Amino acid sequence: MSQIRAVKLEVINTGTELLLGNTLNTHGAWFGRELFKLGLRISRQTTVPDGDAIRDSLQEALGRADAVIVTGGLGPTSDDLTREITAEVLGLELITDEAALRSLEGFFALRGRPMVDANLKQALCPVGADILPNANGTAPGIYVPPRLNGRSNCAVFLLPGPPRELYPMYHAEVVPRLRALAGVEKLHQALVLKFTGIGESDFHQGIDARLAEVPGLEYGYCAHIGEVDLRLIGDEEALEKGRKITLERFGSYLISDDESSLEATVVRLLKERGMSFATAESCTGGLVANRITNVPGASEVFTHGFVTYANAAKTGMLGVSAQDIETHGAVSEVVARAMADGALEKSGADIAVSVTGIAGPGGGSEEKPVGTGWIAVAVRGGQTEAFSVFHPRNRKDFKLAVSQAALEAVRRRLKARLS
Ligand code: AMP
Ligand code: MG
Repeated sequence: MSQIRAVKLEVINTGTELLLGNTLNTHGAWFGRELFKLGLRISRQTTVPDGDAIRDSLQEALGRADAVIVTGGLGPTSDDLTREITAEVLGLELITDEAALRSLEGFFALRGRPMVDANLKQALCPVGADILPNANGTAPGIYVPPRLNGRSNCAVFLLPGPPRELYPMYHAEVVPRLRALAGVEKLHQALVLKFTGIGESDFHQGIDARLAEVPGLEYGYCAHIGEVDLRLIGDEEALEKGRKITLERFGSYLISDDESSLEATVVRLLKERGMSFATAESCTGGLVANRITNVPGASEVFTHGFVTYANAAKTGMLGVSAQDIETHGAVSEVVARAMADGALEKSGADIAVSVTGIAGPGGGSEEKPVGTGWIAVAVRGGQTEAFSVFHPRNRKDFKLAVSQAALEAVRRRLKARLS
């Protein structure tokens, strides 16, 4: 694979609303992902309020970067100053671009709205720069190529803030220019291996030192509830070495190597095995079923989601014995097994999972503290297996952790059954 020129790329997001916390700065993450697909990495990202603050950050970025992408502040109002300040910093005169003006007039004519004078400044463009057409709004983008003047060797993109305008403009106008600029060949690839059932410290102990020895391999961990993602970045050879080291040790905990979620993996395994699936949930309130039904095509395998929160629902809908609930408690191995068996029987599915637990904050006891749960997996023609979990967390996180454990139990059972 050929070497790419190391393009230093910076992103500046403008908008007072981003710093007040009124609008989540989603551009940051979005650009990170999109640029990486081109083999580019953001070396720095800055968020500044509307107005003058952009001047300093742009000036600094021009001194460091090969290309700067600025988002926001291209609107018609007095706080939209990105265009004006950029022209000033680069020492370029702003002139009206006739095509941009006609396009603006067309935008308003099409909607039967009068164009006010404030919009006129949206047709202004630094001399020698390109106008980037905006099919979804009034603010065209601007591209200032490197070396347009004596002041900067850096390419500058000015792009509108609203995602529905920014995203199409990025793909149509920015990507080709970045490719030309960087001569980008996709050198580095990223591989995300998702695991469940083990924690970050297991990786640290198990493989960290070996991964560190792979030349050109960059790696990092990202922990979620009931899940750890291992991110590998490097060329093909480094990635393969990293993958091998990791899977030799932790392969049985792997959810996916293509960023598929645990629930998507379960749906895929069910389809591959031609098996149908049902859930019987108490403490998770349907979260397992919800996660499964978030996966496109779940209807091919998912048949029933019983949410049996009250004891009467467990007996009425699943046929759990009231005596067993009385004797062992609703959160018990016996009841978890009976729920899974009942779900299998009532639904006619091939595999069923049940969950029952104490989410808290009340309802715990010394014997069964808040965070205790029981999970069972029943398979047609097979043994019902049950195990307990303990996740003393807030209700929401408890539900997520228990749903994760339930889906993981189903995944393991399916893996063991056939491949
Ligand atoms: P602007 O181009 O600055 O007028 O931006 C207009 C709108 O775009 C804002 O009100 C936000 O809804 C959205 N927006 C701007 N910047 C961002 C960002 N960094 N992340 C997400 N949304 C943004
Ligand atoms: Mg703005």
